[in-house]
Amino acid sequence: MNLSTITEVKRPSSADEIAHWKPGYAWLAGGTWLFSEQQWSTDTLIDLDGLNWPALKASSAGLEIAATCRIAELQAFKGTADWAAIPLITECCNALLMSFKIWNMASVGGNICMSLPAGAMISLTSALEGVCTLWPRDGLPRQVPVVDFVTGNHANVLKPGELLRSIHLPATALAKRFAFRRTSLTHIGRSAALIVGTQTRNARDLLLTITAAVPRPIQIRFEKVPTANELRHAIDARIAQDGYFDDVHGSAAYKRHLTAHFSEEIRQELSGTGASR
Ligand SMILES: Cc1cc2nc3c(=O)[nH]c(=O)nc-3n(C[C@H](O)[C@H](O)[C@H](O)COP(=O)(O)OP(=O)(O)OC[C@H]3O[C@@H](n4cnc5c(N)ncnc54)[C@H](O)[C@@H]3O)c2cc1C
Repeated sequence: MNLSTITEVKRPSSADEIAHWKPGYAWLAGGTWLFSEQQWSTDTLIDLDGLNWPALKASSAGLEIAATCRIAELQAFKGTADWAAIPLITECCNALLMSFKIWNMASVGGNICMSLPAGAMISLTSALEGVCTLWPRDGLPRQVPVVDFVTGNHANVLKPGELLRSIHLPATALAKRFAFRRTSLTHIGRSAALIVGTQTRNARDLLLTITAAVPRPIQIRFEKVPTANELRHAIDARIAQDGYFDDVHGSAAYKRHLTAHFSEEIRQELSGTGASR
């Protein structure tokens, strides 16, 4: 839609060109959310496209995803044979409720900065132990784990004008095997629960990442795969009964049930005692 409040669109070739941040400014990535509703308090868009950040950089240390990387570009990434978690990228890209336009225009960084509970790029990058690099307007870059970046529904740690530059996925996390469970109330609808378990190859650990059912990602680390009882208790200890996200995409009680059910399926899959999907 036309944004009637916008009076200027800046197209910097370097983020340093935006030295002074004003209250009406907004970074523009794919624009799929920004242009989906009126932005009454925004008068200036700052287009990130001209920064020309390489979308993806793979190295022995892991995968560097530029905030401006399109979701479609990430989905097309093949990785190397020893990165067993690469198929999780496709699982999470497919978990987004999106049209052709969103698929091809929305950026990974835009999805994370939106900080919606059902933000599928948040699910992906937090499960793979991603670390965000943030560029404040008036300070040195800082690093924040994705799991700590989102602080609530549509809330995160970004300060005014702070830019999400990239997300680093460590090679150790990419090499892990994983189990994925997700559902939504409607076909291709917004996720009601998206839960991922990862496990170091030839080890017995478990890292459980709970998203969509809760306002912000919850991660529970086990040194060895827990029993069903231990898992249930650990989840209840981390998420209070009223800590589940209640919205039109599912009641809190429903999401609590899904979280317990899927987490147990993941536990069984990664302990080798259950049927693989
Ligand atoms: C019809 C529809 C359905 C949707 N369904 C889902 C869904 O199921 N799950 C889901 O997660 N999302 C959903 N979304 C939201 C979707 O996640 C966003 O539209 C998209 O991911 C945002 O990416 P973008 O690159 O287009 O961001 P933009 O629209 O350009 O920006 C989004 C916000 O992030 C800020 N921003 C963008 N990049 C940066 C950066 N690098 N640093 C700091 N701030 C930045 C912008 O200023 C803006 O506030 C839906 C949106 C629509 C319109």
